[in-house]
Amino acid sequence: MSKKLLPRVNRISKLFQPLNIVPKDSKPRDEASSKSYKLMVDMGIIRQSSNGMYNLLPLGLRALEKLNTLVDDEMANIDAQKVLLPHLIPSTLWKATGRLEVAENELFMLHDRHQKQYILSPTHEEAVTSLIASVSPLSKKMLPIKLYQISSKWRDEMKPRLGVLRGREFIMKDLYTFDADLDKAKETYDLVCKAYDNLFQKIGVEFVKVAADTGIIGGSFSNEYHYVSNIGETVVVSCTSCNYFATTEIHNKSSCPQCQRELCHNTSVEVGHTFLLGTKYSEPLKATYTANGKPVPLVMGCFGLGLTRILGAALEILSSDEELRWPRPLVPYNVCVMPPKNGSKEASASRYADDIYQVIEQSGIDVILDDRTHFTIGKRMIDARRTGYPYIVVVGKRSTEPRPMFEIHDLYEDKRLDLSFEGVIDYLRTTNDDQTTRYEMNEVRYKSN
Ligand SMILES: [Zn+2]
Repeated sequence: MSKKLLPRVNRISKLFQPLNIVPKDSKPRDEASSKSYKLMVDMGIIRQSSNGMYNLLPLGLRALEKLNTLVDDEMANIDAQKVLLPHLIPSTLWKATGRLEVAENELFMLHDRHQKQYILSPTHEEAVTSLIASVSPLSKKMLPIKLYQISSKWRDEMKPRLGVLRGREFIMKDLYTFDADLDKAKETYDLVCKAYDNLFQKIGVEFVKVAADTGIIGGSFSNEYHYVSNIGETVVVSCTSCNYFATTEIHNKSSCPQCQRELCHNTSVEVGHTFLLGTKYSEPLKATYTANGKPVPLVMGCFGLGLTRILGAALEILSSDEELRWPRPLVPYNVCVMPPKNGSKEASASRYADDIYQVIEQSGIDVILDDRTHFTIGKRMIDARRTGYPYIVVVGKRSTEPRPMFEIHDLYEDKRLDLSFEGVIDYLRTTNDDQTTRYEMNEVRYKSN
């Protein structure tokens, strides 16, 4: 197979993964950089196109698509429906809700040939409310309505930083809910938060859920999801004795408001934000349902997830200075199989690499073949470890023994095993098999207030 070039085999020789070769004695390029950002650029996961904007390359997009699938799955569980709204929004809509003036500095705006002004959308409250208004008043039987999308968003950041962590263009998942009254809207709010809790637990990176400020989005209350990391820009306070969590925008004192003990302060990255909006958007834009023959404004909630930011922050938390580590469910390929170097003593055993690849692929596990056999195993191993393929199978020295043995390098467990062909397959099937077991094995500590 590695010689014949069968179609639909994932080959590193064909992978578009432009590597940055960094000379060993080179100085750090940029002080405002982070280890994951450097690794993502060096390992060809992302590549800058202009200030604060990034090309998501094949490995990066594979990870993002896996995240999208997790999101879709959680959204299906709460009967939310996926839509796609235009990226360009008439600025008159934002004028109607009073947001244009407040946010103007951070908006990308443009005019069409008729001099009509549009916003390149950073968020879609107005747009989705206007969609619902166009079919209002709704019958109460249709409620609640839960619509979400996964799409690019834009914010003209003063200081874009750390690649996908704070870009000027980024991928967001945004969900908007419409209910008949506040009590129902709160029920929906709790339901969505539960789905978000599940999602973050599945991703497997420790997170905190905190009380938050409603900011310019507005509404009656709001929560944020955070990853604790020293590259974050927010500070969350936490109380270990009563499990109180908040951003410093909400609570900026050194003692806990519930039990008066000393609070811990941690820098963190905001990765999700939920709002109970009330009627802030539905009233001015006239999104209503019929009650007693009269149109009544719908009570809304909105729920954002920064998907590219989740990816960047998770990589920052899990990676070392030298090697990327992915959250298990988001890894671009689970297994990398390495045939021996051309002309080496083991070259005759390279067929085993093809066989292992095929059996693993048939088991439904994402696998890629490092068929750059002009390189030594050692050189390819460095690339594979830096890219963060969690399981690397090497057809090495012991593959020519009467009873051939193969190496498995398990990056999550940080161990190397020598196994028979069947042993390799069993090991990979077991470790990649049951998603639920894997989530439990991650032992995610979930904190909430
Ligand atoms: Zn406390």
